[in-house]
Amino acid sequence: MRAIAENIQSMAGYTPGEQPKGAGIVKLNTNENPYPPSPKVAEALAQIDHSFLRRYPDPVATALRSRIAELHGVTPAHVFVGNGSDEVLSLAVRCFVRRNGAVGAFTPTYSLYPVLSQIRDVAYAECPLGDDFSWRTPQFGSSAPDLFFLTNPNAPTGIAYPFEAVRDFARSFDGTVLIDEAYADFADSNCMALAADPSNANVVVSRTLSKSYSLAGLRMGYCVGPEPLIEAMFKAKDSYNLDFIAQALALAALNDQDWMRANAEKIRAERARLTEALSGCGWRCTPSQTNFVFARPPAGNAPEIFAALKEKRIFVRHFNLPGISEWLRITVGTPAENDAFLAALP
Ligand code: PMP
Repeated sequence: MRAIAENIQSMAGYTPGEQPKGAGIVKLNTNENPYPPSPKVAEALAQIDHSFLRRYPDPVATALRSRIAELHGVTPAHVFVGNGSDEVLSLAVRCFVRRNGAVGAFTPTYSLYPVLSQIRDVAYAECPLGDDFSWRTPQFGSSAPDLFFLTNPNAPTGIAYPFEAVRDFARSFDGTVLIDEAYADFADSNCMALAADPSNANVVVSRTLSKSYSLAGLRMGYCVGPEPLIEAMFKAKDSYNLDFIAQALALAALNDQDWMRANAEKIRAERARLTEALSGCGWRCTPSQTNFVFARPPAGNAPEIFAALKEKRIFVRHFNLPGISEWLRITVGTPAENDAFLAALP
């Protein structure tokens, strides 16, 4: 039977966090934002003339890319927009990895990257982080990957890497470095300057509206990088990868930076409170720069706590993977949701 390609047949696929339905659920498992998006998004939605939907959307999202370019001090030729930043990552693997090439990334990191390399049927090189999940410059021996995914701040650990370490690694690396900054709006610093710097020909920084802009359901992400790399992504994308409504609402959200900043500030304050409360109960917490807390319970019983919380309809994330199976990732929720989580702990 030749119906399915071997690499697809043998791969397991990405496992997204559960999306439980129903009342009374405390959902702290997929790093969504607990607050609504800017009211400007609702206004833009109300203003959409549904008769426009018979037409195809702008294939290159001109208005949206101009706004993103303006926000980051680059020209629109340096900006690509995607159907969620997941599409940006997927296109990076399609565009920047040669037929017998490889993708590289730290371990642990975002579990989508190995799946994307399996879909492309290329090797996946895992580079260990330090024991406390801190930066350790990747070493590749004789065969360096074509593309390195560098998640900053990292998921699920929450840790941000030093700018200088990322910069020096990118300068020494022969392939493309995609700095995945899905959580950067919750961090003290970021690496966007590396993508905007014309002397870096191999750095792309991706962002998403799913977290700090509270728009995970919209599916909109983007990246900034050198013109030739952005051009390559445009060649490989679906003709109309970002729909008309997503383009209009994303623009409205990006036009309300004050809302996003205030939202991120609320999350940061609750992140500090949650970290302090867990640390006070003997949990080990990483210094998170994201909208989640990565924490190890003192009794080393993360799977049991995960299951006990689920019984109480409180959802957090547990990864049954080497090195992190004793940890839980808890998305920062509203104060009430965080209190419910803390009160439900054994
Ligand atoms: N990168 C990282 C590190 C993430 O955790 C996520 C969210 N799962 C994404 C990218 C993708 O986000 P989205 O496709 O919603 O933009």
